[in-house]
Amino acid sequence: MGDTLVPLAQAAADVGVHRATVHRYIRLGLLKRYRARGVDRRTYVDVEALRELRRNPPLEDATVTLNMREDHGLCLDVSCGGRIRDRRGAEPGGAPMQCDRCGALYTR
Ligand SMILES: [Zn+2]
Repeated sequence: MGDTLVPLAQAAADVGVHRATVHRYIRLGLLKRYRARGVDRRTYVDVEALRELRRNPPLEDATVTLNMREDHGLCLDVSCGGRIRDRRGAEPGGAPMQCDRCGALYTR
C-alpha cells in the first residue's frame, strides 16, 4: 500500500467531495477500498485515485442504457452474443426491439 491511502472521510474532505460520493464510486467499482485489519474498522481509499476520478470522470454512453431496457434473450445471430432489448423512443410502427451489440432490429 502506498502512503496515499487515507480514511474515507479524510479523503473526501481533502478532495472536496461528499462522503456519499466516495461510497458511490466504490459501489460502482471505480475506486478500491482498503481496510487496516486489526488496526481499525474504517474504510481507506487512495486519495490520489479519488482526485484522478474528479479530474477525469469516467464517461459512458448513457443513450444506450436509456434506450435499451427489457431483456428478451440472446440475439438470433449466434456469433453476435448480444441481447435483444426493448427500444425506447422507437418510431411509430418501427421495430420495438433491438440487439444491444450488433444493432439488429427485432419485431418478434
Ligand atoms: Zn446481435
